[in-house]
Parts: sequence; structure tokens; C-alpha cells
Amino acid sequence: MKLDLLSLTHLELKEQIKGKGIAGYIADQLYHWLYRAYQIDPEKWTNISKANRDLLFESFSLHLPQVIWQGLSKDGTRKFLLKMQDGQTVEAVALPGRNRLSICLSSQVGCAVGCRFCHTGTQGLKRHLSTAEVVGQYVAVTHWLQTQVNSELKFSNIVYMGQGEPLHNFENVKKATEIFVEPKGIGLGQRRITLSTSGLVPQIKRLHEFPPINFAISLHSAHNDARTALMPINKVYNLEKLFQAIQTIPLKAHRRITYEYLLIDDFNDRPEDIIALAKLLKRSESKINIIPFNEYPGAIYKRPSDEKIAWFCHQLNDRGFTCTVRTTKGEDILAACGQLKSEYDKVNLWQEDQQLKVLSEKKKSQFSFT
Ligand code: SF4
Repeated sequence: MKLDLLSLTHLELKEQIKGKGIAGYIADQLYHWLYRAYQIDPEKWTNISKANRDLLFESFSLHLPQVIWQGLSKDGTRKFLLKMQDGQTVEAVALPGRNRLSICLSSQVGCAVGCRFCHTGTQGLKRHLSTAEVVGQYVAVTHWLQTQVNSELKFSNIVYMGQGEPLHNFENVKKATEIFVEPKGIGLGQRRITLSTSGLVPQIKRLHEFPPINFAISLHSAHNDARTALMPINKVYNLEKLFQAIQTIPLKAHRRITYEYLLIDDFNDRPEDIIALAKLLKRSESKINIIPFNEYPGAIYKRPSDEKIAWFCHQLNDRGFTCTVRTTKGEDILAACGQLKSEYDKVNLWQEDQQLKVLSEKKKSQFSFT
């Protein structure tokens, strides 16, 4: 099988093409076209001769995930359904923020972890994404935005918080991350990439193999019984094992680990939950990110009131923790955290239910990511 160009770090690409009789500097040109110009049509790689392109594609392939559906939320979040070469689909989400545009990437088709609150978890694991498919999501969505919305649009941040448990697909996600930070290509700063894990202890102990990006842990409760009820993985890797593994994560000076805490009405939003959290986490090394539960069709949990969410966060702030509440984005198109499931027919029903219309026909000029 041919190697996909999107699966290779710059150094690997250089070595590989030299092995096929193509000059090493062509690797710089390929990285430019793929990751700076987002030009996915080889015919338009004007500084690479036809003879070299022919030679290249004798040994390599270039398969980009295909955008088969996209929907724009009323808050500017845009969800993409991407089809892989074998017909499997995953979702990626473009999230506009103040001075930033983030992309939330998927790492697997479905997910084996089966968190009870998660729409993706109800799917089970179909397969891992390859490195080229993880990188391809970024390139395909950037290409789509630049050709359909605004040629200047670029992502400033990546979060691995889409479908799948990224550390379950350790090697492919690690390689994709190396490609994202490559200075001759996209060149994203390491601090601009965040990987979120449900708590795969053996892989957490190997995080030193990754470029030094930001890490987030889905905690959701400081009580083993409640965490197990939400995340079956806690039966295997309970809080004690998880926090032993977290101690091995190399933290650069001034960096902290983010603990994601899905706040669920009448479940983990009580005073005793705050006390347990304050006991478990180290103030100086932790940030707590409260994620109000996003309801989806058939969800068994409820979102707490806004007053309750604010109260919970203030209680943690008062105890000396940095605590923020994540703004819910893309709720109307099921693009919010835990809502991804590659089923755009249900998205449409959900939208109709809520009398919210996806603004995908909105004029380009009206759409801003700033
Ligand atoms: S929350 Fe993440 S780890 Fe848990 S089932 Fe969903 S995709 Fe998998």
C-alpha cells in the first residue's frame, strides 16, 4: 500500500522521497503546498515539475477526508461531517473564540470508552483513525473554510476532544501532533494544542513521548463511585491509579493540567463534591474547567441551572483554584462537547425540535470567526 503524504513528518518525507530518487528539498515544497497554502490539487503545485509529481505519486498517495455535510450554529460554531476513504465518517468542529479559531479533531471512528454522558460513546469503537486521517481533518476543513468562507481563515488552536479517546490511538495521534508542530508546515505552537483524555493510565505514563502540548483530564467527579457511574474506565483505572499516573506527566514551568468537570444537575454539583475536589487537586498545578452538561436526544442527565453553575465555580475560586466555565458552543447542531456522533439526520431532527435553523446558507460576508 502506498504511504499517504499526510502521514509523514517533514524528516520522514524527506528521507522517503530521497529514497525514490526525488531531491530532498521537494519535501519543503510539499509541506508548503499541503500545510501553508492548503492546496490539495497536485496540478497546482507549480514549483514541482510534472516529472517529479508523477514519480511522487508512483510511490505515495494523498487522500483527504471529504466534507459531506456541514452546519453552522447560531453562535458561529461550524460542524463538519467528514467521510474517509473506506466510507466511515467522523466529525470535526470549528470553534470561533476571541482572537482564536480552534478546531476540535476526532481520533477514532466511535469510541470504546463508553462514557455514559457521551453521544459518541453510544456508538462503540469502529476503528482508529490513521495519522493521515487525523491530519487530513485539519487540512480538509481549513481548505473548505478558505475556499467557501474566507481565504484568510486559519486555525490557531487544536483540541483533541472530538470523537474517540486520543490516547487509545496513541501512535497515530502522537505522529499527527508532530506534524502539526512542524515549523516547515503548520508550525502550531505546542501550547496551542490540547489533548483531552478520559484517563488511560498506561498511556498517560507515556505522555513524555509527545511534544510538550497541553493535557486535559476528564475528571467529572472526585468520588470513585460517581466517576465509575459516568465513566466505566474508572473501574479499571480508579482515581488513585489515575493520580499516580498524572504525577508522571512532564509539566513545563508555569504549565498546569486542566481537569474537565462535567457538571450534571443533582449528580456531582453538591457541596460534598466541591470538598472532595479541593482535597484531590493541587491548586498550583490544576485548572478546573466546568462543562455544563449538554443535553442531546435520549440523554439521561440534565444540565444544572445557570445559578448553580456559577455557584459551583465560585466555591472553587474561593478555595484558591483557577476555575472557569466553558461556554457551550454549537449546541443547536449537536457540536458541543459530548454530542458528536456522525449522525446528521439526527442533527436535523434536533434542530427542528428546537426550532433552530442552521444558517448554512448564510452569506459568506456575514460569517465571521473573530
Ligand atoms: S467522552 Fe470521550 S472518551 Fe468518553 S465515550 Fe465520549 S469520546 Fe469516548
